[in-house]
Amino acid sequence: MYAPPVQRLITELGKLPGIGQRTAQRLAFHVLRASPEDANALADAIREVKLRIRLCEVCFNLADEPRCRICQDERRDAGLICVVEEPGDVIPIERTHEYRGRYHVLGGALSPLDGVDPEDLKIAELYERVVEAPDEPIREVVLATNPTTTGEATALFIADGLRERMPQVTVTRLASGLPVGGDLE
Ligand code: ZN
Repeated sequence: MYAPPVQRLITELGKLPGIGQRTAQRLAFHVLRASPEDANALADAIREVKLRIRLCEVCFNLADEPRCRICQDERRDAGLICVVEEPGDVIPIERTHEYRGRYHVLGGALSPLDGVDPEDLKIAELYERVVEAPDEPIREVVLATNPTTTGEATALFIADGLRERMPQVTVTRLASGLPVGGDLE
């Protein structure tokens, strides 16, 4: 129906989550109407994140250096680790300005049906971090996975693993009262 370059853009936009065929078309026409500068800025931004963003070597949050800003920040309490599923889950917790510890980003939640097993997440790395604690002993691990079936299963699994390895470390969950079906954000 469209010239091949237009169709290609629609196809690529349609691969984004929550973008159906109609929205992909609408966005493609928006890009076609945009100035060359704006369209290139979008393309460059996509190219740049793929080139420059990697995972923090300590906590697996997004970073443009070997360590993320939070892990580099000496004022953050290194004895406290908050475990979240995705890098995006760090943001709502930071927005509260109540948490002064560090993070550990798992990269998802356990879901055997979808083929997500413990070794697919940064769980072994978390245990290693808690056991070895190069900066200072870990006092507490806060499990801030989402209040979903997979998030709860992940929290239980990690709590068991930590209890086995480091029984002296306090393991806590986020206070309940999050709405059912709501996610961390
Ligand atoms: Zn980090």
